[in-house]
Amino acid sequence: MTQSIFKNTQYFILDMDGTFYLGDRLIEGAPSFIEKLLESGRDYLFFTNNSSNDVETCLNKLCKMGFKASEDKIIISSHITIDYIQKNYDGASVYLLGNEKLTAHFKSAGINLTQDKPDIVVLGFDTSLNYKKMWDAVRFLEGGATYIATHPDVNCPTPDGYMPDVGSMIALFETSTGRRPLIMGKPATATVDYLTSYLACSRKDLAFVGDRLSTDILIGQDHGIPNALVLSGVTGKAELEASDIKPDITVDRLADLAPYL
Ligand SMILES: [Mg+2]
Repeated sequence: MTQSIFKNTQYFILDMDGTFYLGDRLIEGAPSFIEKLLESGRDYLFFTNNSSNDVETCLNKLCKMGFKASEDKIIISSHITIDYIQKNYDGASVYLLGNEKLTAHFKSAGINLTQDKPDIVVLGFDTSLNYKKMWDAVRFLEGGATYIATHPDVNCPTPDGYMPDVGSMIALFETSTGRRPLIMGKPATATVDYLTSYLACSRKDLAFVGDRLSTDILIGQDHGIPNALVLSGVTGKAELEASDIKPDITVDRLADLAPYL
């Protein structure tokens, strides 16, 4: 009965922050869930919407906490955004709101970055955002540039409270220009398409696990993909009960999913 939800699952797409670790500590039992899913003949990827980090930062963070993963196991919303631009706007010039890591990722992928008259404005999690960048972005959006955001999260949790994330900047630019972006990352369809292509699998082979209803769970709900909420991160029981977004399964933490394998 209970295990039927994952009976077709080949790949667990695991959120990181609030799901696998919290702050700089692994959530108890999280690595054992990975061992068990591998033993059951399945595989996994980490997927984070946080486009202020690069793969190396994520790997180092996991390694410091005592968990070894390889580069190919980590996908960030920036991968989806880059892939989407390459497939749909090949050669287009991009004005990127992003920190050094995100900028380096775009450059290494061969995206044509510009500081003036871009075809596309990309709004990433820019932890180096300043007034000039915001003003330039508004001018380009007013001028009709295509508008894409790496992900929709409003706030990013930290051990000391939260940081304003891309969703908050989306609200700022909407107030100024009336425009809303095409959103990548979770819960976008572009992410499902990227993952099925990356893993050479179909949607029925995937399952999403995470701590945020509007991203980790909604992507599953919107695309008919099994999904599980962990209560170890940003979502509490009261918020879950009040929400229209209902996960297939809710558990306290990742390790509690092992019996469903
Ligand atoms: Mg999370």
